[in-house]
Amino acid sequence: MNAAFDFADMDDLASAPVAAPGPVTRESVAAQALNLADCKKCRGAGRVTFGYASVRTGTCYACKGTGKVRANYEKQREAHRKGEATKAANRERAEAAWILENPGRWSWMCAAGDRGFRFADEMRAAVRQYGHLTERQAAAVDRCVLRDLQRAEARDAERAATFVQVGAASANGVIDALVRATETGKTPPKIRTAVAVFSLAKPGSANEGCVYVKRGETYLGKITPAGVFQPSRECTPEARAAVAAVVGNALEAAVEYGKTTGVCSCCGRELTDPVSVAAGIGPVCAQRFFR
Ligand SMILES: [Zn+2]
Ligand SMILES: [Zn+2]
Repeated sequence: MNAAFDFADMDDLASAPVAAPGPVTRESVAAQALNLADCKKCRGAGRVTFGYASVRTGTCYACKGTGKVRANYEKQREAHRKGEATKAANRERAEAAWILENPGRWSWMCAAGDRGFRFADEMRAAVRQYGHLTERQAAAVDRCVLRDLQRAEARDAERAATFVQVGAASANGVIDALVRATETGKTPPKIRTAVAVFSLAKPGSANEGCVYVKRGETYLGKITPAGVFQPSRECTPEARAAVAAVVGNALEAAVEYGKTTGVCSCCGRELTDPVSVAAGIGPVCAQRFFR
């Protein structure tokens, strides 16, 4: 407890005369000098009731039963409360200002902190507590931001190195066939091949205009509208080459698939008509997908 609120020296004031009206005596002057006021806790009674289930009465701890406290005690308490509130408000203002001035550092601290990186979380807490970072802390954050940026760039470069230019719109290519089938049919079109299954991203999705490449449940990547195949992590170099080889000539891949499996590449139905079996594709699908 703060020394200013220590009432140990008031123990023997319980019976002291308190600003009594009347002749000015040595005692009354002494009492006035102490500047006593009614205790707010007990409203000057010196005793308080407490408890809920069983109400009890006891000596007021704030005035130690005297009913009087130094007048400046309440003032000091109030000033202390106000001081704390002002400090908190200043801290919040400083924090908001720092965040505004350090958007890069702050967004890194939040992202890395949320990922569970303890240092970032500690720096975020420091800004909340002190309204700023020290120069050394800021420099340490900057090193982390730079390191993460370099790592991300290296990752992007590594990924970009696996991209394959497969061409955007060759006639009877995968993109061409899927777009054509979308315009003429109701069901979202698919092309099944020995290598992978190709389908269009849903309209309105983030990848609208892209072709998804899947083998079974494995996502092998996507082909952008600009004709770039972006393989996923799961796509092996062999699969990458095989996909790239098929994209330019979907008709050939579809026919080969139909002849090998006896199932139409486009609608997934079994080919039963001898003409279709021989062609490797149903006549309706052939017209819907290919030129
Ligand atoms: Zn009291
Ligand atoms: Zn079909």
